[in-house]
Amino acid sequence: MLPGPAGRIQDNLVFGEFGGVNPSIEDSSTFTFLSVEKMEELFEHEIEGCFLYSRHLNPTCHYLGVALAAMEATEYAQITSSGMAAISCSIMEICSAGDEIISSRTIYGGTYALFKNFLPKFGLRTNFVNITDLDAVRSMINPSTKVIYTETVSNPLMEIANLTELRKIADEHGLTLIVDNTFSPMMIQPYQLGAHIVVHSLTKYINGSSDCVGGAICGTHDFIVSLRDVHSGAAMLLGPVMDSIRAASILKNIHTLHIRMKQHSLNAMYVAKKLEEYGFKVFYPGLKSHPQHKLITGMLNQDYGYGGMLTFDVGNEETANKLMIQMQEEKVGYFAVSLGFYKTLFSSPGQSTSSEIPPEEQLEMGLSPGLVRLSVGIDNDIQRSFERIEASLKFAGLL
Ligand code: PLP
Repeated sequence: MLPGPAGRIQDNLVFGEFGGVNPSIEDSSTFTFLSVEKMEELFEHEIEGCFLYSRHLNPTCHYLGVALAAMEATEYAQITSSGMAAISCSIMEICSAGDEIISSRTIYGGTYALFKNFLPKFGLRTNFVNITDLDAVRSMINPSTKVIYTETVSNPLMEIANLTELRKIADEHGLTLIVDNTFSPMMIQPYQLGAHIVVHSLTKYINGSSDCVGGAICGTHDFIVSLRDVHSGAAMLLGPVMDSIRAASILKNIHTLHIRMKQHSLNAMYVAKKLEEYGFKVFYPGLKSHPQHKLITGMLNQDYGYGGMLTFDVGNEETANKLMIQMQEEKVGYFAVSLGFYKTLFSSPGQSTSSEIPPEEQLEMGLSPGLVRLSVGIDNDIQRSFERIEASLKFAGLL
């Protein structure tokens, strides 16, 4: 475990215009200038403290970006309207037609579909690989390769990417390592471990209340500024901006993230152990049986645990469906996609968040149709919640 400077976010004090304890919300799409020269200068390069137009940069989004950069220990961050926008803008900024991406094969289904179905229209090809097999990663590199893409903790199989080793490979070949850290904020800081760029879906843990969609790209100051270059930046020109009122609301939620992550992790560990005791095949990196348990333990910042996500196999799709509907009846939580909510959310990845991956490829990567994914909530009494899961397992004929 690493001592971890993740607590840096708590030093991120920003006063409002009248001394408020939250920064003022800048509810404007455009900004005035006192001279023609200043406006012309701002079209050429960013000037600290000067704002042009909210698709370029809004002060409230800037504050959220500074908070996320503090959390990820990067120089700066760009806020986007969704996690997918963060991923697509990062890729579009770095790659040109003819370039290739090496991507982990177990990633969020939307990202998989972007890489497999959408980006080829613009001349970008992706080779999918088992990211835990570093020799396989190396063997895929060719002169056209530009990016290695992975999730820190993969969706939905909870595989752990060895970021330090991937960075070494990237450096040997001049590649950019992009890491999606949506499953493990606070717990793991990919930039500290070797990522060049860290992307997030703010929709999940970081906001934590399942009331909006948002994203972020964290990296060097130069990369973030290049993303919103007026003439060539992917974020500026594709335009996936977040509204300032929403950015202010997410910024407030971030300040409770450290407490929420601890509780998500405590609860998920409890559920994972219990399910394993019952003999289910459980995918949770906190379990000693997890193939990368040692690896992740060495990557974690202390105090935040192993995260709130786990997957377990109930054998087939029909049983998975029966179980999930009953868990909703028993008030364990909601049968819904997404994750990081304060209540438990559950879905079957093969039929939902990974359904973009063809069934034969799902099987090859070990994604069985009977998998149930739990985003374990921050319930105060997880023992009581687990009794409800047990009742649902009995109802589905699993106990
Ligand atoms: N990355 C991961 C790991 C996800 O699970 C998701 C969505 O489920 C995304 C990215 C996409 O985020 P968004 O829905 O905010 O666009």
